[in-house]
Amino acid sequence: MDKGITRTEISTLGEFGLIEHLTKNIEFHNASTILGVGDDAAIIDHFGKQTVVTTDLLVEGIHFDLMYTPLKHLGYKSIIVNLSDVYAMNATPTQVTLSIAFSNRFSLEALDEFYEGVYAACNRYGVDLIGGDTSSSQKGLMISVTALGEVTPGEFVTRNGAKKGDLICVSGDLGGAFLGLTLLEREKKIYLESPQIQPDLEGQDYIIGRLLKPEARKDIIEFLGEQGIKPTAMMDISDGLSSELLHICKQSEVGCVVYEDKLPIAEDSRQFAFKLELDPTACALSGGEDYELVFTIAQEDYDKIVLSEKVSVIGYVAEAAEGARIITKGGNTHEITAQGWKAF
Ligand SMILES: [Mg+2]
Repeated sequence: MDKGITRTEISTLGEFGLIEHLTKNIEFHNASTILGVGDDAAIIDHFGKQTVVTTDLLVEGIHFDLMYTPLKHLGYKSIIVNLSDVYAMNATPTQVTLSIAFSNRFSLEALDEFYEGVYAACNRYGVDLIGGDTSSSQKGLMISVTALGEVTPGEFVTRNGAKKGDLICVSGDLGGAFLGLTLLEREKKIYLESPQIQPDLEGQDYIIGRLLKPEARKDIIEFLGEQGIKPTAMMDISDGLSSELLHICKQSEVGCVVYEDKLPIAEDSRQFAFKLELDPTACALSGGEDYELVFTIAQEDYDKIVLSEKVSVIGYVAEAAEGARIITKGGNTHEITAQGWKAF
């Protein structure tokens, strides 16, 4: 954490000094941000749009491990995971609040690093940090982010509109973040047992990046808007594709059929899975934290989506009685479970 250059104790600033320090360079990107940090509350005006709100709590040792997560990446990801939920509603994120509790193990320089990531994400996605809270904690780091967004009235997309015959689509590729986590956990274990061994992360930038520096799929929401496609149901993939599919099936009262050979898996992910003797399909189905989008569209929208390299059609929505199933490359049918699939 401490790189041995300077270490400023946060207690030297006091809480208000700290907040002032952390928020002094804020610039607003949105007309909807009427009043930000610096009063008892912020004021936003979405000018006739509907407001989307989502919140997420990240706890050290539960959701992240600072042994292999740089603070800047953690700050970036804390914002991204919330923006991803706003995009999953077919909405545009506009503001975030950020609350953080930290023990005296964290210096001002460490917090600055964390906020560097926070502001990088805010700038990239054009959202305004408009408030939050800071506290000391007895142990570890806790981060709570709330994101607000706007959507044209009635244009939001929930999990419950999927209809029989709709096509199931996913953005990007799946399983990479899980494989990145598996790699970093493996190297951590080796390091703890024999600290003299250097971690071997060579050639694995892709999967490590998928875990430590995910992006929210703003581009997919824009693409769908340009194509005039409103998905019938949508979620972001935080817990794993199979878990998200089961949510959509349950809430839409439908079943689904997914084809193993249609699941998008990056070559880097596939290779690393083989190296560890893991099944890439299982990684794609149950590995979480990819922050891609899974959505269903009406069949007549197929032509508008088929040429996009960012979107894969992986299956179709079936009747509820058919359950949630995956058809393997060998032509076998398995039931999809929250853990991936039941192999019989
Ligand atoms: Mg979500």
